[in-house]
Amino acid sequence: LNRRLAEFGTTIFAEMSALAMSTGSINLGQGFPDTDGPEEIREAAVRALREGRGNQYPPGPGIPELRTAVAAHHRRRYGLSYDPDTEVLVTAGATEAIAASLLALLEPGDEVIALEPYYDSYAACIAMAGGRRVPVTLRPHHEDTARFRLDLDELRDAVTDRTRLLLVNTPHNPTGTVLTREELRAIADLAVERDLLVVTDEVYEHLVFDDAEHLPLASFPGMRERTVTIGSAGKTFSFTGWKVGWVTAAPGLVTAVRSAKQFLTYVASGPFQYAVAEALALPDTYFAAFRADMQAKRDLLASGLAQAGFEVFRPAGTYFVTTDIRPLGETDGFAFCRALPERAGVVAIPNAVFYDHREAGAPFVRFAFCKRAEVLEEAVQRLKALA
Ligand code: PMP
Ligand code: GLN
Repeated sequence: LNRRLAEFGTTIFAEMSALAMSTGSINLGQGFPDTDGPEEIREAAVRALREGRGNQYPPGPGIPELRTAVAAHHRRRYGLSYDPDTEVLVTAGATEAIAASLLALLEPGDEVIALEPYYDSYAACIAMAGGRRVPVTLRPHHEDTARFRLDLDELRDAVTDRTRLLLVNTPHNPTGTVLTREELRAIADLAVERDLLVVTDEVYEHLVFDDAEHLPLASFPGMRERTVTIGSAGKTFSFTGWKVGWVTAAPGLVTAVRSAKQFLTYVASGPFQYAVAEALALPDTYFAAFRADMQAKRDLLASGLAQAGFEVFRPAGTYFVTTDIRPLGETDGFAFCRALPERAGVVAIPNAVFYDHREAGAPFVRFAFCKRAEVLEEAVQRLKALA
């Protein structure tokens, strides 16, 4: 293994899902739903397979039906117009979109500012692209409702003459933070002022709760032409195994990302692209029901974890809840998560893996709530026995 990748080892998600299997634990680690997406969309995939649509290489940029559906979704939902022919690119999940964007846009030595804790593939992809990651840490605040916040001065101070790109994620995995209009405006102003590119991972765009609102960074002044926005059918339609994602951006940026993408997978998921095109056209009632269902699950797990003695950062978005384990008398999330299957028959993720400043993430542990209510209830019962 080369030096660029050596520090990353095996992804925590594979490690923890294997641990869940081998110990027979409830897996609240890796984020995937235990209920598949809509039946009619599964049927659409079967139809495509049977009718021979997508069984051979689809077009490099993705099938026109899906690119048109992505553009229509963004117009309907956010009032953002993208040309399906030149400004939309279908990828093998958001994972490939992240990799291709960074490989295409970074020169060796370029600095990338990422919000810490960050989704694990960001660090590996920045490294593979020869870039340097510069983390800006989201800080926990413990006032009335505990949440993580972006310190805008820290963000500003992190920009240097070598900064090429801001890598943003909202709604944010693992903290559940949804960046506010003010925070996004400040990020946008900084990007414009310092002439930075922005890659924004918005795969949880449909999972925002209560009065939180997802605002695409590309909708802020000066951002449309400098922002690569990433979405995923895995998250929005509960088909994480299909690996259908997309990028929307100005033509020059899409062309750049596609230059990298063509040598990674070239294309992927032919028949599933047809099904996802139909999924994106589902009525608003689908998205509302999906969100309401996930919000109820959030409430169930968040209150259960609080009763079990964790400090809970109640997520405004995503399907993850971050907790602080110090009220349980624990300080080391790694040790806690490695012991948890034995102690309680539950698997969770230590947030420290998402930090360069590991000590800043040490006491935080993430639980996924995209699971059936009875599974969450059983997990809570087991965790309550810890106290
Ligand atoms: N970004 C974030 C923030 C994620 O949580 C995930 C999925 N866990 C991905 C990207 C990857 O998405 P996909 O499965 O579409 O590759
Ligand atoms: N995005 C998922 C998570 O955060 C995991 C995806 C993966 O295993 N790569 O749990």
